[in-house]
Amino acid sequence: MLKFDRVKIQEEDPKERSKSFTIEPMKEYTTEEATAEASRCIGCNICTQACPASLDIGAYINSTAVGDPAQTVRIVFENLPFPAIIGRVCTHNCEDICVMYDTGGPLAIRHLKRYAADQFDDYGKILNVKKRSFINKRVAVIGAGPAGLSAAYYLSIQGVRVTVFESLPVMGGFMRVGIPRYRLPFEVIEKETGYITSNGVEVKLNTKVGTDITFKEILNSYDAVFLGVGTHKPRMTGTPGSDANNLMHATEFLRRTALGEKLPVGNKVIVIGGGFTANDAARSSLRLGANEINIMYRRREVDRPGYPSMNADEEMEESLGESVNYMWEVTPFEYVKEGDRIVQVKYWKNQMVQDTGGRAKPVPQKEKTFTMDVDFVIEATGQETDFSFLGEEYARQLRLTPHGGIIVDQRGMTSIEGVFSGGDSTNMTHDLISAVRDGDIATLGILDYLNLMDKVNEEYLPLLDRWKKFSPMAAKLAYADRVK
Ligand SMILES: Cc1cc2nc3c(=O)[nH]c(=O)nc-3n(C[C@H](O)[C@H](O)[C@H](O)COP(=O)(O)OP(=O)(O)OC[C@H]3O[C@@H](n4cnc5c(N)ncnc54)[C@H](O)[C@@H]3O)c2cc1C
Ligand code: SF4
Repeated sequence: MLKFDRVKIQEEDPKERSKSFTIEPMKEYTTEEATAEASRCIGCNICTQACPASLDIGAYINSTAVGDPAQTVRIVFENLPFPAIIGRVCTHNCEDICVMYDTGGPLAIRHLKRYAADQFDDYGKILNVKKRSFINKRVAVIGAGPAGLSAAYYLSIQGVRVTVFESLPVMGGFMRVGIPRYRLPFEVIEKETGYITSNGVEVKLNTKVGTDITFKEILNSYDAVFLGVGTHKPRMTGTPGSDANNLMHATEFLRRTALGEKLPVGNKVIVIGGGFTANDAARSSLRLGANEINIMYRRREVDRPGYPSMNADEEMEESLGESVNYMWEVTPFEYVKEGDRIVQVKYWKNQMVQDTGGRAKPVPQKEKTFTMDVDFVIEATGQETDFSFLGEEYARQLRLTPHGGIIVDQRGMTSIEGVFSGGDSTNMTHDLISAVRDGDIATLGILDYLNLMDKVNEEYLPLLDRWKKFSPMAAKLAYADRVK
């Protein structure tokens, strides 16, 4: 008999997992479960249109349905060299738009990708890429995040010599030092970044451009440059009392935790913010020993970053399951200190006020103040690109949007000749799959810029905008409509 209901994804016990950095919240499908779930797909491929990287989703789900996960991995690699990573933490807009949504639930596209990728320890054996011998062109990539590494991979298999400069001691960018390891295990990142370096990409870790080597030296030594520098400069609130030593920005908190420090968070933690980063900081605090976690967000639940989407709902469910508490419509206005430490957070409740057009604004109701005791405060209030690595001359030449994003043309090239860019420093969506898409675009842009298009192996070129009719925004609207 045909079964239409989505095959349930089994969860680890929230009590147990919330004290461990090594238990992934969701269990993997068994082969039986994956085959049954994949068999629900009707192959319409509307989902592909909502995927920023245009993966051929219908085709790879079909491969899993017929018991050929190796083919699934091959299809995913057409545009994306991180199937196991994206199979765990993608925002999966594709599922929001799946036509099976009202017929037993959307296909578990992300989870099926994870299942297929996890069947193989060595992608080399199944992909069997016939890498070109090196041609006489050199490209520098600044930043070993998903954008930089995607460009590095697809350029390198075309025979371009690629060197990646990375300031941290590890590869992966926010995949490695942002997203905590309980959501994205280090071994998964190492498997996929290791496959990329095995294809001849040279990576110089602990090498900060602007300090260890100048941007000018790089421009003079390479035929083209890709900037995948992300957003690693914290935006702090500047709330009075911020000079305390038990206050940290979430990206610093998560990076230091990911690099092995056990930060002393105490028992009660307040996280200020509302997106990925706030949730990850809150849940990491639990795993560092805290017991009472409050996330304070100045807007309403429906205004939180990433919403409306199934991903934002799943993320919140997981946090709630681990006893994280959300406080909506509140604004902290003072950190009360004893000595060097914050002991209380003072806050107001907000009222959302809709003025003409645009988003409703949170307006603090100041007549009454509230206080909450705290041992550690984390601000997950956003971050931006640190452009200091460019030096004055090039910083002047690089055109930015009013929001500080790097402006690129259709090929991914910035206002500096031969310098391409992508990922969080450039796009507005700030997610992994968009960063990978930007790496794909820049790969084609750089090959074209270097006049290599007549020498490439077309089989290994990323396929952009496959059957594009909708956008990831269409998926958001579809989801908003469905959960009304
Ligand atoms: C806590 C957190 C959780 C997230 N969760 C998710 C999620 O679940 N799903 C999702 O899709 N997205 C998630 N994101 C967003 C996602 O991680 C980013 O969109 C993505 O990593 C951006 O990729 P990127 O390559 O542009 O930059 P990054 O991943 O930020 O990588 C940039 C790299 O450049 C390096 N760099 C910067 N300047 C220099 C320099 N001067 N010299 C040398 N190296 C330099 C940095 O050290 C870094 O390694 C999350 C982000 C955070 C912070
Ligand atoms: S939208 Fe759903 S049913 Fe259609 S191809 Fe994608 S996963 Fe399959």
